[in-house]
Amino acid sequence: MLTQRIPEKRGLAFEVAAGDAFEVVDPEGQQVADLVAFDAGDPTVRFSTKYSYRRNGKVRVTDGDTLYATDGGEILSITADDCGVHDLLYAPCNEWVLEDYYDQPGENGCRENLGEAIAPLGVDESLVLDTLNVFMKSTIAEQTYVDIREPPSEPGDTVRFRAERDCYVAVSSCAGESVVNAGETNPIDVRVPDGTVLHKNF
Ligand SMILES: [Zn+2]
Repeated sequence: MLTQRIPEKRGLAFEVAAGDAFEVVDPEGQQVADLVAFDAGDPTVRFSTKYSYRRNGKVRVTDGDTLYATDGGEILSITADDCGVHDLLYAPCNEWVLEDYYDQPGENGCRENLGEAIAPLGVDESLVLDTLNVFMKSTIAEQTYVDIREPPSEPGDTVRFRAERDCYVAVSSCAGESVVNAGETNPIDVRVPDGTVLHKNF
């Protein structure tokens, strides 16, 4: 496989064929990676967080679980997972999240980085909204209140995915200098099949 490092606060995208595998790695630990997936035949059909917890019956996914698309069908599955903690509740950070919550005005968030990376594949940036937030820890208190905690991922923790259909995938190294990334941002590594063309915004 080909390993590509995503520098802190950046993103990349690639095409993956049904049955192929790819991996997302946290090389230094406690760094979140946001992930989106789109049907290569019709990118308006895309990974859906809400339909994924509808189909799985839970708001956390790990090894053995499937990610579902807006048409209700399978789009990715998780076939190995060193960490076991990933978030489906939160939308990707973006310019206003960074300004309003993290005191980082004027910076790209994950939504912008994912959108810029996947635009060359013909996916409109407005379709980037539902993310699997790999290594991100969210909590629900009193069955009502959501909150973000430090990611529990350790250096080298890897999540392996299998494509359940031909799809476009984008991954970002989360830009939030806050508890979401344990206070500082770091790179993320992606491993893809040899020969995969990578679209990067760095
Ligand atoms: Zn982010």
